[in-house]
Amino acid sequence: MSPTPTRVTAVDTYDIRFPTSRELDGSDAMNPDPDYSAAYVVLRTDADDGLEGHGFTFTIGRGNDVQVAAIQALRHHVVGRRVDELCADPGTVNRDLIGDSQLRWLGPEKGVMHMAIGAVVNAVWDLAAKRARKPLWQLLTDATPEWLVSQVDFRYIADALTPEEAVGLLRAGREGAAGRAATLRERGFPGYTTSPGWLGYSDEKLTRLARQAVADGFTQIKLKVGADLADDIRRCRTARGAIGPGIRMAIDANQRWNVGEAVEWTRALAEFDPYWVEEPTSPDDVLGHAAIRTGVAPVKVATGEHVQNRIVFKQLLQAGAIDILQIDAARVGGVNENLAILLLAAKFGVPVCPHAGGVGLCELVQHLSMFDYVALSGTTENRVIEYVDHLHQHFIDPVVMRAGHYTAPTAPGFSATMRPESIAEFTYPGGSFWAADLASDKGAAA
Ligand SMILES: [Mg+2]
Repeated sequence: MSPTPTRVTAVDTYDIRFPTSRELDGSDAMNPDPDYSAAYVVLRTDADDGLEGHGFTFTIGRGNDVQVAAIQALRHHVVGRRVDELCADPGTVNRDLIGDSQLRWLGPEKGVMHMAIGAVVNAVWDLAAKRARKPLWQLLTDATPEWLVSQVDFRYIADALTPEEAVGLLRAGREGAAGRAATLRERGFPGYTTSPGWLGYSDEKLTRLARQAVADGFTQIKLKVGADLADDIRRCRTARGAIGPGIRMAIDANQRWNVGEAVEWTRALAEFDPYWVEEPTSPDDVLGHAAIRTGVAPVKVATGEHVQNRIVFKQLLQAGAIDILQIDAARVGGVNENLAILLLAAKFGVPVCPHAGGVGLCELVQHLSMFDYVALSGTTENRVIEYVDHLHQHFIDPVVMRAGHYTAPTAPGFSATMRPESIAEFTYPGGSFWAADLASDKGAAA
């Protein structure tokens, strides 16, 4: 008699918030006081191996409870499913979650519900990689082109990329993959740092951290801009002075501007030689990005951390609206949709420079860039993953930076697992940190 198949027994959720707003870490022109948070999900099974699938969505504080509720609304799709089937074909759960006809009304494929799908789908991939005893990037690079393409939902993108073309791109990407995997293990994947450039930091702190970034081996930094032009001119001059002419400096407006304003403001900063301007305007404004790109050249235009799905990315590429495509591991519907986006970027020849930072976004997205390098685009030229040196200590398998490069993860999984003690301390509002903090607030108010 064959043994009873193991199944998913629980989808547990946690509202985890870190009090980052107190140090102005993460402050930018649109988000002056973020408390970096994770709507966190754990898939538990009745398998003897004790392995769990961990995933999360990043938010910046208030509303993290809404995000958690959205994940809870997906539970019935996952609890009771066979673990072997789920892990052999995460695309099925991805399609089931996106295809929930009642929940789909809340999107479709955008916003809180879609991010919740991403958290659950990513947790499935984490479990699949742990069971395969491989880091996720390696699970993906070892997979056949046909299987990878079976994981992609081509609905709404087939006019730009067919499954046959995707197989062709992945077959071509396999040439030389073993050599690139060896290079990756030896050298890592290039990163750039945003840590010096938060809007709330003093010029002294900006200078110190910018110099430190160069000393640490980074070849690119990024500055937040868009609140006040005179301040931005001063800060860009300060940063450029600190890093010298040979280091790239990107600027990031976090959607602050109208189209015309984006062009004027970027031109006003052009003398400091910004490499790209990021999120100049609304992430939904495809044609606006195209106009900005024309208006600010040779400064490049980058966006993606708030682009809600593969369909908008498709249009940005079709319209020639961006020079740099910034995937985010926890904004869209998880690994499956990010595979679609990486394939679209490869088809259009646009480099992918992921958004990261937040809570655990560096940990996740490094796997996707490493797959892209080894088995799809085949290059790290003009490709860098954002790096922010916050909150990594809360993860079991944190990113390791060496000479400005992300070291290739070796532990099985998606590097998504948070330390249990961190979950216990920062769960909102009952974890030990928040319980004490809220009690002292009450005391102060009395
Ligand atoms: Mg950004």
